[in-house]
Amino acid sequence: MNSVKNNDAHERARRLIALAAPETLSAADRFSDQASSNAWLAAHLETCASCRAFAENAAETIHRLRAIPVAAERTLVSTTQIRVRRRALELQRHRERMWTVAVTCTAVTLCALLSTVVLWRGFEWLGARAQLAASVWQVGFLLFCVMPALVAALLLLAKDKDNGKHLADHTGSYRG
Ligand SMILES: [Zn+2]
Repeated sequence: MNSVKNNDAHERARRLIALAAPETLSAADRFSDQASSNAWLAAHLETCASCRAFAENAAETIHRLRAIPVAAERTLVSTTQIRVRRRALELQRHRERMWTVAVTCTAVTLCALLSTVVLWRGFEWLGARAQLAASVWQVGFLLFCVMPALVAALLLLAKDKDNGKHLADHTGSYRG
């Protein structure tokens, strides 16, 4: 009879432990029946080592279970924040790059237009001074404008020819 009663007491104690939040085991309670249950539980735990172990185990388990999602949540939040910040920085850099490209393109176009106008005026002035026909200084102007591109094209052609010659030399040496 005594062992059955004891089993009931252990059962009741463990149910109380399982149902109670760890804080309420020690904190003062608002409800008197819960307070008396807690008082009974405290008294039982004083005398019963196995239920005390169970209570400690439960408290530790609950503590761990609470710690895990909080830790996961924190790392998730911080990694998300880092990612969002990184993405924002990337977007900002991209915008800055696009802005630089746009400004550079505009500046180059304006410079080209301005130098063309200045050159045209210069050739006009020279033509008038040398008393040349308009067609003559205009052809001169065109040649002057096209000259850099022509020189570059000639240099590239020469380089290509040179490379071709070197290649022919090498294949020749392989054959010989
Ligand atoms: Zn017990």
